This record gives sequence, structure tokens and C-alpha cells, in this order.
Amino acid sequence: MGSALPQVDSLRQERVSKKLREFLPERSVLWQPEDTRPYECDGLTAYRRVPMVVALPETEEQVQRILRACHEMDVCVVPRGAGTGLSGGALPPGDGVLLSMAKFMRVLRVDPVARIAVVQPGVRNAAISDVVSPFGLYYAPDPSSQIACSIGGNVAENSGGVHCLKYGLTVHNVLRVRGYTIEGEPVDFGSEALDAPGYDLLALAIGSEGLLAVTTEVTVRLLPKPETACVIMASFDDVKKAGDAVAAVIAAGIVPAGLEMMDKPATAAVEQFVHAGYDLEAAAILLCESDGSAEEVEEEIARMKDVLAKAGATRLAVSRDDAERLRFWSGRKAAFPAVGRISPDYYCMDGTIPKKRLGEVLSFVGAMEKKYGLRCPNVFHAGDGNLHPLILFDANNPEELKRTEAFAAEVLEKCIEVGGTITGEHGVGVEKIDQMCVQFAAPELEAFHAVKRVFDAKGLLNPGKGVPTLHRCAEFGRMRVHGGKLSHPNLPRF
Ligand SMILES: Cc1cc2nc3c(=O)[nH]c(=O)nc-3n(C[C@H](O)[C@H](O)[C@H](O)COP(=O)(O)OP(=O)(O)OC[C@H]3O[C@@H](n4cnc5c(N)ncnc54)[C@H](O)[C@@H]3O)c2cc1C
Repeated sequence: MGSALPQVDSLRQERVSKKLREFLPERSVLWQPEDTRPYECDGLTAYRRVPMVVALPETEEQVQRILRACHEMDVCVVPRGAGTGLSGGALPPGDGVLLSMAKFMRVLRVDPVARIAVVQPGVRNAAISDVVSPFGLYYAPDPSSQIACSIGGNVAENSGGVHCLKYGLTVHNVLRVRGYTIEGEPVDFGSEALDAPGYDLLALAIGSEGLLAVTTEVTVRLLPKPETACVIMASFDDVKKAGDAVAAVIAAGIVPAGLEMMDKPATAAVEQFVHAGYDLEAAAILLCESDGSAEEVEEEIARMKDVLAKAGATRLAVSRDDAERLRFWSGRKAAFPAVGRISPDYYCMDGTIPKKRLGEVLSFVGAMEKKYGLRCPNVFHAGDGNLHPLILFDANNPEELKRTEAFAAEVLEKCIEVGGTITGEHGVGVEKIDQMCVQFAAPELEAFHAVKRVFDAKGLLNPGKGVPTLHRCAEFGRMRVHGGKLSHPNLPRF
């Protein structure tokens, strides 16, 4: 898509900003190109569009009024948290309003007895753990972007992180989400109780990519900080062996606190950047963490070392103290910016596959590197089977961007072929919208559209993201024809 020149309908722009300024202070409505351009993309920088108007509300009432006004004027709205998303979910509308939730930064309540915190959506993921740390508690899902990304974005994407193998994704750690529909109607999903009767609408809201409602408050579950933790860095002389070792650890009945993998090109890029102490001779390394009481950790580390050695590890280094453990993780967490230093751009894929197919899919990615003539370091949440191949390219070269997109599409479709999915934690956004046609059959997509219409009949909230129209799938020409038992005569057709 590249950076589109703003071709704004100035009459529409004036009408919308004037309407919003009726109840928002002047500083909270941006429309001049020098003010709106910083919002032109999220972390998927290959796709850019300057928003027509940016609204920066500070209160729930303002959010409600913005949504009502846009609904009345038939103007679309795209919610935005910190803009670190990697699937273009917060890509702005060129003819609508980008709704930044960045000013919703307050922790509203911490209840250490119930082990919950109630926070506004703009609160950074890492800030939650910082605030509750004096109570010996923390918020478990830890995306590598956690120092920057917001909890509202995490809820919208159902974000994961290196510790989600043991502690679950966002959906397993959020109890309640409050917000507003595009019509400005309040919605409240879930509760502080363990379970609620009726359909699980909280699970529907989490991962809905800002398509159903704008989140204004999130209640998160907190966990006691583990007494201790320790990580093994295991080296392998072959990527497939490392992939198979992941399956062996899980098959041994062990649930590590984290089980991550990086191949040689990824460790080389990271080491120059953060000096994490990785084995640069290894074809791939695994990071396997154990946490709990000192006895549990000692026992689990010994078991994991045994399984990894039997799976062919050439070297096993165990962190000697917490500083070394954090240093090992700092490399993994800095992997994306590290590859960003060795290439003008990188395209981070996010497919999930059954763990036993890891080795096979890695070999496929290697074959695609040769086919498309593009380098592709691999970093991933191996324990979850969640791959993040990072294609290195130059977005200023349109032909290279096309090759990158084709490379990514082949890998995502390979994930589906082996029984996996096209996303693990980054969402569909605009990036993977065509692959949704391969993942789902028409009746399933129709059901998704029916759900959307319940919340947003006019289709104004984050349009063009997440779920493709059947028309788009027909044009893409790769619609899945089998499966999908959801067809019902009363489901609307699109
Ligand atoms: C270096 C790097 C590392 C990353 N590592 C990880 C990782 O380990 N795991 C992982 O899961 N992700 C990771 N990500 C992706 C990204 O950080 C997550 O998807 C994160 O949850 C996005 O949060 P955000 O606040 O930046 O949201 P944004 O990018 O602003 O928005 C993301 C989506 O959420 C919607 N949204 C945002 N706020 C709201 C709201 N209040 N109400 C309704 N919808 C809303 C937007 O419309 C959009 O669809 C990484 C990104 C980067 C750049």
C-alpha cells in the first residue's frame, strides 16, 4: 500500500472536526496533516494512511459522545491504543476518525485480596505489574512490547507473551471489560466473579480487534509472584532438532513457564544489539524457564535438562542468578527491534501450528527464503507453536514488498495446511484478511458478520479489518469450500 498522500475531503473533515469540537477541547481534535501524520500506521509500517481527524478523549463521556456523533454522521471510527500492533489493526481511516485512547492512563483500583486490578485501557501492560508489585503480585501475559503496548490493545488482540504457555493469554487473565458500542451504548462483558451464566461474551470481546466496541475499562486477574525462576539456554546444531526438542519437552508432561526458540540469524542480530550471552555457534537455541518454589524449580530444571540432552542439545547453560536469567530473556524480548537494525523494514508473521509440525514448517520457511530471495530470521513462542518468522525487506522497493507479502501468504497458508491458524496473538487486522478466506468457509464468515451486525449494524467500527467480506474472498479466489457447519437460513448474507 505504501504511504498514501492525504486526499482529504476538506468539507467532510471540517464538518466532523467542528462537530467533535462541540464537546471536546480544541487540543483533543487534530486535523492538520502535521498533527495527524504521526498516527498514519501502527507497528506494521508497510501500510500507512493519514487519518482525516484524530480524537483524543479523556473521559468516558467524551468517548460516548464521539461514538454517538460519528454514528449519526455515518463516519467510521478506528480505536487506537499505543499503536504497537503488528497486523495493521489501528491503520486509520482516510475518511474517518482515529480514536486514540492514549489519555486513559489511570489504574482505578487494586484489590490485593481479590487479586484484581481495574485499569483504564491506555495503561501500559508493564505498568500494571509495576503498580501491584508492592503486594507481591503481577499481571502474567507479557508481550515483548510490554513496556509500550496498552492493556486496551492487549484485550483487542488477545495478546500473548513468553510466559503465556503456563499462565494463558489475555483471555485467561481478564475478568471484565467495559466499553461503548459505536452507537454510544454502554456494554459490560464478564464480571469479577469466577464465572457468569449465559454465553461467554467476554471471550467474544477479547480478540475482537476493536470491531465490536471501544474498551474504556479492564479488570485483570493478578497472580502471586513466583518465589524463584531459572532458565536453561539449550543449543542445537540443527533447527529441526530444536523444533523436535520442544515437542519432546511438552510430551514429557512438563509445562515450562516459558519455552522460546530463536534460530542462528535471529541470535546473531540480537547479540549485536543487547549482548544477551547467546551461543552464536548454534543453529538454534531454546530458552526454557521454570518457576515456582526453589525445590520445584530445581526438580523441573533437572528434568528439562535431561529431555533436552536426549533430544540432541549440544550445550546446556543454566542461568546462575536472576540477573543472568533476565539477560537471557532481554535478548528474546528485543528480537524484533534487533532485526529492525539490520534491515530497513521487517515483516513479522504470526502463525500457529501443532508443535509436532515445528521442524517441518521451519524447513518450509527456509525453502521460501530461497524462493523469494529474502532473509527471514525465526523467533517464536515455541511452546505454544506460535511462529514469528521475520521477513527482512525494504518497503521503499514496491517489488520487494510484493515478494514479502507473497512469502508471508505462503507461510500462513502452510500453517493452515498443517492444522494450525493464521494468527496466534497479533490478530488479523488488514495484514491477514485474505488468509481468513482460506482459514474459514463462507458459513463461518457469515456467522462472524452476523455477530458484528449485532454490535455495529452500519459497520462503522474499524471497518475492513478482521473479517473479509465474501465478495473480497471471491475476488481473492481462495475461498475454503468445505467445513463450516454454521450455515443457517436466518444468518444474513453479505
Ligand atoms: C517489538 C514488538 C514486540 C511485540 N511482541 C508481542 C508479543 O510478544 N505478543 C503479542 O501478543 N504481541 C506483540 N506485539 C504486538 C502488539 O504489541 C500487541 O498486539 C499489543 O496488544 C497492541 O497494543 P497497542 O496498545 O499498541 O494497540 P494498537 O496497536 O494501538 O491497536 C491494536 C488493536 O487494538 C484495537 N484497540 C486498541 N485500543 C482499543 C480500545 N481501547 N478499544 C477497542 N479497541 C482497541 C485497535 O483498533 C487495533 O485493532 C509486539 C509488537 C512490537 C512492535
